[in-house]
Order: sequence, then structure tokens, then C-alpha cells
Amino acid sequence: MASLIKTLNCVQCGQNHLGANVWTCPTCGPDEGILEIRFDLDRAAKTLTRASLADRNRSHWRYRELLPLDHDPPKSLDAIGWTPLIEAPRLAKALGVRRIRLKDDGRSASGSFKDRASSVGVAHAIEQGRNVIACASTGNAASSLAGCSAAAGMQANIFVSESVPEGKLLQLLAYGARVFKVKGTYAQAYDLCSQACARFGWYNRNAAINPFLVEGKKTGGLEVAEQCADDPPDWVSCSVGDGCSIAGVGKGLSEMNAVGVIDWHTKMLGAQAADVAPIAAAYDSGSLDRTGNGGTYADSIDVPVPRNWRKAVAAVRDSKGAFVTVTDDEIAEAVRLTGRLAGVFAEPAAATAVAGIAQARRQSIIDENASVVAMITGNGLKDAAGARKAVGQPHVVRPDLDEIARIVEQDKKASQS
Ligand SMILES: *Cc1c(COP(=O)(O)O)cnc(C)c1O
Repeated sequence: MASLIKTLNCVQCGQNHLGANVWTCPTCGPDEGILEIRFDLDRAAKTLTRASLADRNRSHWRYRELLPLDHDPPKSLDAIGWTPLIEAPRLAKALGVRRIRLKDDGRSASGSFKDRASSVGVAHAIEQGRNVIACASTGNAASSLAGCSAAAGMQANIFVSESVPEGKLLQLLAYGARVFKVKGTYAQAYDLCSQACARFGWYNRNAAINPFLVEGKKTGGLEVAEQCADDPPDWVSCSVGDGCSIAGVGKGLSEMNAVGVIDWHTKMLGAQAADVAPIAAAYDSGSLDRTGNGGTYADSIDVPVPRNWRKAVAAVRDSKGAFVTVTDDEIAEAVRLTGRLAGVFAEPAAATAVAGIAQARRQSIIDENASVVAMITGNGLKDAAGARKAVGQPHVVRPDLDEIARIVEQDKKASQS
């Protein structure tokens, strides 16, 4: 089936570049001229219905009318998407809201939400006749691209910054990618990757400038819409780095409304780390401050100069939502609570969505009757050092039952006091 793409508009000037074979707007330039795909939603609505969905594959390829592909993806990528939505009543109680559901993309193939974008990127590259693909990443985009490339038999060239956590680096190497660890910042790794793609003709997976990839991230929103169809949330919380994830989730929710699979709207909550919050600031000021140099231990959202801020700001604004910022301590607390009260081990950037709910509650942005979905965008095992900051230590004991008894007794006293 040919894709139902209707236009490819610049988010700044609005010009349609469909068919022009560009990935950013030539008029507005690569920093601001980000393109956005729009679909023929009237046509999509004819075949994308609740009834037709009931018979489809349990993967994100089930939304083929809303994906920018002309052909079926390789079978080896069939396992991407359709992650579980998990009730978290104890977490909801602890944060003071009526209901929390966790959309757990930590269970995705490579352990993060990025598999949605990477799998669409790989499928699109194959359609374009490319067999080498590249990306720059703080970690998850790279590990997911390496995994999807390995599955589909493509070569992956990955540019990471020096701060990449060990678990994510190991994934890249395990999937057989060629890894360039750039001595510099993420922004420098990103620019180097773009230059290499231009020079060597590699397919560029960098989500912020590749409009096809936001369409992959969109499937997170499509799935939330379908999974919550009869039981809509008041808010969907998402952590924000470059801004593509929240923009994609917001687009997915809107498109499901436009095609009539759902009849409701929900507010988007964007959560950024307090010291790296350029998009939260741009939400208030209307423009991006490109001088940011803060840092957060939630490495996946440590993005001082985000590329996709306009789409992120628009997604939150269109939904009548809000942005909040949370400190690294609050993020660590969210890692702890999400693990202990919901049985979901989130990496710091993923737990930021939960920390954002707590913050929005404290500021009375979200009220106590709210039902909230939190996008758990990455698995805690990916960043062992980050997790270690949050989760405490084991009891080291000799093989002696009396020692166990002493600790059991201590814990009992502690829980009574
Ligand atoms: C990439 C990522 C995000 C943020 O997505 P952006 O598109 O950069 O805003 C959040 N959490 C995790 C785990 C990620 O890997």
C-alpha cells in the first residue's frame, strides 16, 4: 500500500516540500526548518477503525495508514511496539492522583521508546535503497538503531558522546555497530554525524531533522489512544530532551481523534530536568535560548540545545497542557517509587515522566482526581550507574541465619517507628 502522506510542511514557514527530496526547509535552514509530515486523514479513517484494528498484528505496524511507508517492513522487525499499559495504583496513591497507568516501553526490543523511531527509520531507509544508516545519540537512539539495523541486515554507524552510559555502549557493540565515541558534547557528535551522512551518503536517523522518525515515535501516542480508548486519561506525561518524543506522542493522539478511533483529547505534560530545560523555558518565552550548558544525570534528556523544540512546544500548547521541571533528586526519587510501587524499573530519563506528575501535582497543575498515563521511555538496566544513585545497597551477610534474623528484626522495628 502506498503511504497516505499528503504534505511535508516546514514548521516555521509552512512551505510544503513534499517530493523535493530535502529533510529540512532550504529557506529556514537546518536549525529551524524542521519538516512535519501530514497524512490524508480522511482516507486513513476509511480503513483505520476500531473494528479493523481488532484483527491486526500486535506491533506498531498495525497503524500502517498513519506510517510514512509504502511497503511492509522486514519481518525481522515485527516485534516493535504494542508495549503494555500497566496500572500503578500504589504509585498513584503516593503521588496523590486518582490513577496512574505506565506505558512501559522499557520492555521494547532494545529497551527504549526509541525502537519506534529506529524501526521506522530502518524500514524507510530500505525503501530508499540505502544499506548504511547513521545516527548521533546520547544512547538509546543509537542502541535501538543498532538493534533494528542488525535485525534488518543494515550497517549502522553510531556517534556517541563521551558521557554515554556503559550499558548503552555495550548494546551498540553487541549489535555489531561501528561506534564513534566523539571527544566532545552531544551537539558536536550530532553535527559530526550530519556531516558524515552528507559526505558518505548514509541514511541519517537523527530524529529531530528526519521527519519520518517522529512518525515512528508517534506510534506511542497511537497505542495510548487505542489502549485507553474507552477510558481516557486526563493527562499524558512524557519526559523531554530533543522534543521529538512528546511531539510524536501528541501527534499520535490527535490523529487517532481525527480518524475517529477515539473521541477525546488529553492534555500533554512535558517534564524536563531542572538544569537542562530549554524547551520548558521556550514554552513560556516563545523562543529558544541556545546558550544552555546545564547538565542532568538523566542522560537521555541531557540536551542543552534541542532541535525539535517547536514541535514539542506546539504539541503541549495544542493539548492545553503544561511543562514542568524536576531536579535530579526528584528524578532519583521517581526511579525508586516507580520500581517499588509499580514493579517497573525505569531509567532516570523515563522516571522523569513520573517525577513530572509529582511536580505538577505539587503546583496544582494536575488535580487529585486526575487519571494520568506516564510514558516509561527506557529500561533502568540501561544505565546502571544512574540507577545506583537512586536505589540503595544490599545487606552484605555471612552465610549465617542469625544475621538474617537480626536484619529482619531491625526492619520490623524501622517499619513500626
Ligand atoms: C530520547 C529519550 C527521551 C526524550 O525524547 P526526545 O525526543 O529527545 O525528547 C526520554 N526518555 C528516554 C529514555 C529517551 O531515550
